[in-house]
Amino acid sequence: MIDKRFLTGEKVVINVGKLNIGGDNPPVFIAGPCSVESRDQIIETALALKEIGIDILRGGAFKPRTSPYAFQGLGEKGLKYLKEAGDLAGIPVVTELMTENDIDVVLEYADIVQIGSRNMHNYSLLKAIGEIKKPILLKRGMSATINEWIMAAEYIAAYGNRNIILCERGIRTFESYTRNTLDLAAVPIVKKETGLPVIVDPSHGTGIRELIDPMSRAALACGADGLMIEVHLNPNEALSDGHQSITLEQYRDIYKLKLSYNKEVTSRH
Ligand code: PEP
Ligand code: MN
Repeated sequence: MIDKRFLTGEKVVINVGKLNIGGDNPPVFIAGPCSVESRDQIIETALALKEIGIDILRGGAFKPRTSPYAFQGLGEKGLKYLKEAGDLAGIPVVTELMTENDIDVVLEYADIVQIGSRNMHNYSLLKAIGEIKKPILLKRGMSATINEWIMAAEYIAAYGNRNIILCERGIRTFESYTRNTLDLAAVPIVKKETGLPVIVDPSHGTGIRELIDPMSRAALACGADGLMIEVHLNPNEALSDGHQSITLEQYRDIYKLKLSYNKEVTSRH
């Protein structure tokens, strides 16, 4: 048995401004580039995505890259551009926090603080963000079992912050066709075990552009409370994760899933 004292399975709804995530609320649609690359790029993307209808803008300013020679993100400048873009579009923003040293600066600009897959096991970081109030988006470690992921969330809750959204983003398996193996069975399991909202990231979960649409449908079908998808103005020129990023036009089609969900819900009443 795992020692859950706060995340008991009782449903938790997370509020981000006017938005409610989890429970019986409609799925939340998060989209944006892997990285904030320039002021113009993120503003243009934000306004176009807002026009489509998204709920939350994503964009990394501190990037965990495999190679130290790869683009590392714009840092604080990227956070400023992201926030400015979110403000102009009138939507909240989510961005990754990589180290305790950057907590203050990330909190200044982010509405939701993302803890990336590589940091899910960073217990001192988990304790530190337990002491803040802003919602946390906790991605599953790429080699984490479901129990380890749940306990990482329990760390944050135990240190005082119950505003946690979980994100299934695929795990490493022997399969190498896809970047990761998207573990959709984990979605209903962690929802039941923790009561927290669970969203799915099919971009990192598959690493393959063509799989974003079918895996988004599958994620919503198994009860995901939202989707986080990488969208780029010109995926082939993206400074990170271009191969798995989709265009605005492709995203427009995926957003129809939200519209049909809303229709289905209203027709039930
Ligand atoms: C990201 O969302 O850009 C990211 C780096 O994701 P992950 O931590 O899941 O690899
Ligand atoms: Mn990425």
